[in-house]
Amino acid sequence: MLALLLLFLRDHLPCVTVRTGASPTHLITVPSARSRAGAHPLANLVGDRLRLPRITSTINPSYGPDDHDFHADWFTTVLPASRAPVHALVLEDTWTTGARTQSLAHALKVAGATTVAVVVLGRHVDPNNVPARQLLNAVASPVFNTTRCAAED
Ligand SMILES: [Zn+2]
Repeated sequence: MLALLLLFLRDHLPCVTVRTGASPTHLITVPSARSRAGAHPLANLVGDRLRLPRITSTINPSYGPDDHDFHADWFTTVLPASRAPVHALVLEDTWTTGARTQSLAHALKVAGATTVAVVVLGRHVDPNNVPARQLLNAVASPVFNTTRCAAED
């Protein structure tokens, strides 16, 4: 998973930067849906390889791990005291509905982040979900293509 992330960032971080207009200045991972002690496994995996300072967040306990709706108050983030613009790079290991990621991105913007870019490593798809079949058909061949840019229209 780390290799996949580093390959993607090597090849496509410039594409993300074009979209946001700035290189990321800070890194944050989407907090896990299941509470666990210590740092998020993705944060541990990435370590200091991206050489970006971290932003942390606190979680509103009102929303459970199985909640799949956007909540503007799900997360709270505190940006660095510096007045320099914050361009946040959000890393998410798995995208299911996007509710957690979008809620975190919202919290970052509310806290004052100038831009928020999200890089998702994996996508959870239920093959029995009829609308998901179109997505599964689209990625059937090739199964995975690291040269295809997620920032393409
Ligand atoms: Zn690209």
